[in-house]
Amino acid sequence: MKVAGSPNNKPSFAARILLSLGDRRAIQSMPLSGLPSALAVYPGKTLLADARGSLYGNQREIQSVFCLGVDFARRRLLIVFRKRREIMSKVNLESMLPHEFVEAQQKASIAYVPTGPIEWHGPHMPLGIDAFHAAKVASEVAKRVGGVVLPTFFLGADSLLLPGKEPQGLASLGLPDSAHVIGMDFPGMAVKSLYIDEAVLGVLFRDVIRALERQGFRMIVLISGHGAPNHMRMLSRLALEETRPGLLVIFTTAWVPPVPPEGGVGHAERMETSVMCGIGAPEVRLDLLPHRDTPLPYKDFGIVDGLAFDGFPNDGFVVRAEADPRNSSAEEGNEILSREIDSMEALVRTRYGSF
Ligand SMILES: [Zn+2]
Repeated sequence: MKVAGSPNNKPSFAARILLSLGDRRAIQSMPLSGLPSALAVYPGKTLLADARGSLYGNQREIQSVFCLGVDFARRRLLIVFRKRREIMSKVNLESMLPHEFVEAQQKASIAYVPTGPIEWHGPHMPLGIDAFHAAKVASEVAKRVGGVVLPTFFLGADSLLLPGKEPQGLASLGLPDSAHVIGMDFPGMAVKSLYIDEAVLGVLFRDVIRALERQGFRMIVLISGHGAPNHMRMLSRLALEETRPGLLVIFTTAWVPPVPPEGGVGHAERMETSVMCGIGAPEVRLDLLPHRDTPLPYKDFGIVDGLAFDGFPNDGFVVRAEADPRNSSAEEGNEILSREIDSMEALVRTRYGSF
């Protein structure tokens, strides 16, 4: 029998799992090269998703995947998962009675830890948007998959912006090289952000992880709505360091990359404002921004498009038209949130299933 596998013709992990499930027709139909390791097995339906989200099962499934592409496969997998979804009504740990906690943990031994700092996000958005975003995605995923969501940690780290036109450099944001700016605390802002030292946060979240481990959780999902590189690096390092036999810790962001040709997400710009509009509360106040004919300089409003953060500022250091938060909407926010929730659901299920 022809067995699918890597170029050296050894059966891949995916093929071996399918062999153990006795699905020989599926294996015979797989291409001979390029099969990455499997991430999730769904024995009830004899389906399998690989690292790209491709789906394998019987002959018909495989034809679908290769004719219609990876996005189609991802959707198929989610549909299968949704069919067996148990809708959980209560997912917030702080609201649970002891017996509800025990039941939730028995259904899925997963704890979600949403984080994001109190941080300036323009005059129109609540200071906690990053954490609200992480908490929203976490709670929707927990309703679908199971597990419990910890009280939101309105905590986060950021770093000193360096001189020059490098990504996240002062000169890319229209700020003088002499400015002393941490994160989004541009000179003249009415409110300072509550950034916490990265080392302190590391100690705190390590202890939270260990406390959750003592509570019996087998998987912990650290979710950030804040994109500062040092904040994310610290959480992802912790996830790796605290993973051990019996405990899987993963780090992920609430954000998923926008669909091309849409560029990267910036700060307090259209997409992030739309997300907060989609969450609905607390309220976004677009009326606190000037009339839409008035340009929004990065340094005056603390609103920055993604390209400027990448080192490609707009002429005049003003927010690009396509990233203007005055063009945000709840409809766009709900569309972004729905992709994020689907994506995180797939991630959590595959990692929990493979554990
Ligand atoms: Zn933000």
